[in-house]
Amino acid sequence: MNKLFRMVILGAPGSGKGTISSRIVRDFGLKHLSSGDLLRAQVINKTELGIAAQKYMKAGKLVPDDVMVNLIASELAGLKTSPWLLDGFPRTRPQAEAVHQHEKGVDDVTGEQLVQREDDKPESVKQRLDQYAVNTGPLKGFYRDLGILQEFHGTESNEIWPRVHNYLKSHLTALSGPF
Ligand code: AMP
Repeated sequence: MNKLFRMVILGAPGSGKGTISSRIVRDFGLKHLSSGDLLRAQVINKTELGIAAQKYMKAGKLVPDDVMVNLIASELAGLKTSPWLLDGFPRTRPQAEAVHQHEKGVDDVTGEQLVQREDDKPESVKQRLDQYAVNTGPLKGFYRDLGILQEFHGTESNEIWPRVHNYLKSHLTALSGPF
């Protein structure tokens, strides 16, 4: 049986992680789960979760772990037989542990800060960068200790992307045929 390829992508706000994620799912056929997109859909639909999450999102603060873990767990429950890419989750150690309890063979792709989202207020951007430094950056150690961290550095998405593509191509080809 083919191993299911499952990845999380870590990168600071504005690092181009969204761009790299879309290219990965475009070329490698993984299901893309973006926690920010899932939350924004909840906000638009004015669900209870969306209303509760909105105040954290506006302030650039993290939505509480229990809310996020439930949200992502219910999405992953529907993807038991699919390869997937998690984008924006995990962002904290408890979130990483929650994913890892269920999954093995998680990989990580990181980028560096490149572009500031135009729709962000400066104070919210600062919060998001601080949150990344305090909570999410250290997750690299979590995955490094598990022996499944892969880092990519560069100053723009077009520089990073060929490296990510080549890495995934060689790993995924071995699992499920040419891309
Ligand atoms: P993003 O589009 O990934 O930058 O997410 C937008 C906002 O949604 C973040 O600033 C957080 O407020 C919230 N958010 C997204 N993913 C998470 C997560 N894994 N944990 C906590 N909050 C999150």
